[in-house]
Parts: sequence; structure tokens; C-alpha cells
Amino acid sequence: MEAALKLLEDRIRRDGIVKDEGVLKVDSFLNHQLDIDLLDACGAEFKRLFSDALITKILTIEASGIGIACVVARHFGVPVVFAKKAQSINLEGDMYVTRIQSYTHGRIFDVIVSKKYIGCDDHVLIIDDFLANGCALDGLIDICQHAGAAIEGIGIAIEKGFQPGGASLRERGFRLESLAIVDNMDPATGTIVFR
Ligand code: 5GP
Repeated sequence: MEAALKLLEDRIRRDGIVKDEGVLKVDSFLNHQLDIDLLDACGAEFKRLFSDALITKILTIEASGIGIACVVARHFGVPVVFAKKAQSINLEGDMYVTRIQSYTHGRIFDVIVSKKYIGCDDHVLIIDDFLANGCALDGLIDICQHAGAAIEGIGIAIEKGFQPGGASLRERGFRLESLAIVDNMDPATGTIVFR
């Protein structure tokens, strides 16, 4: 097993909190406090996994994707663009707009990316902290497709393999690399099973 993967799995086992409704809390290293050494190891691993791809931009979504995306971007030497949650009232023609259902809050919201920052010359690596049903990624994919940008791949820190997003994206032919895949987790015992 690659070192970054082992570090991440060990950390999830040690500090992850299994909540009801399929939610894994990792606030102590990924979603509230950020362990930069761990994120750096994840960045190095994504660089290794996508070493053959020409990447010009990292794309993520606010808020929880930004931390990991910034550290990953250091390994590729490219900028990070994050999709912003927007009030419909602010939407203007120079933005790509897509609609996303939030996994953790259930709400549907618009996200925007300025046309200035993603275009048809870009080769994009999409990065996010979690993959569950795939709604967040569907939105980011939609933005890239509207921009005419090439999606070189998708890098996820923690995929919940018991939810449908990962299988569906792989079926659609996307190059999806998840560092840790949780196949099962039990809120009663706190047990987490990795693929
Ligand atoms: P999806 O759109 O794939 O259903 O959910 C992905 C998004 O929801 C991620 O960007 C992440 O912020 C959030 N998310 C989904 N599942 C979890 C989870 O189990 N724990 C945490 N902390 N965030 C999650």
C-alpha cells in the first residue's frame, strides 16, 4: 500500500467519527483543523497517480475542498479554482452556473465559476475531500463541460464506496482516483471497513 494511503486510512481509523445517515466526521484533520503534512502526502500521491496527465488547473468546490485542493496544487504547480456558492440574485453572464444538492445539508444551491478562470484550453484535475452520491462532482463536471475544458481526472481523499457516486462516475468513464475507499461503517460500534 502506498504510504499516503496508509497514513490516511490510519488517521480515519484513529480520528474519524461515524455518524448516523452515512456521514463520517473528520474534523480533526480534513474538515475543520487541517493536517498539512497529511494533505501534502495526499498531494504527492495524486501527483504520482496523475503523473502522465497534463494538468493546467485544479478545480474544487467551497468550502471543504479548498484546503486539500491548495496543497495538491503545489505538487502540480498550477492554480486552484473553487466553485463558489452563489445567491441567484448575483448571477451574471460571465459565469458558469450549475446546481448542486448538498449531501451534508440536503439543500440545493447554485455554484458559479467565472469564465475568466476555466476555459477551453484548460486540462482540469477535479479534487474534493469526499465523494458520496456524486452531486458535487456532477456540478463540477458540468462546469468543465460548459467551459469546453478537458477533464483529465478526479482525485478524492475519501470515497464512501457504499454510496453510488464512485461507481456511477467510473461507469461514465471518468478517471477517478480515491485515496481511501470506505466500504462499510457502523455508527453503533464506530467500525470502519476499507476496500
Ligand atoms: P456528494 O455530492 O458526492 O453526495 O457529496 C460530496 C460532498 O458532500 C463533499 O464535497 C463533502 O463536502 C460532503 N460530504 C459527503 N459525505 C460526507 C461525509 O461523510 N463526511 C463529510 N465530512 N462530508 C461529506
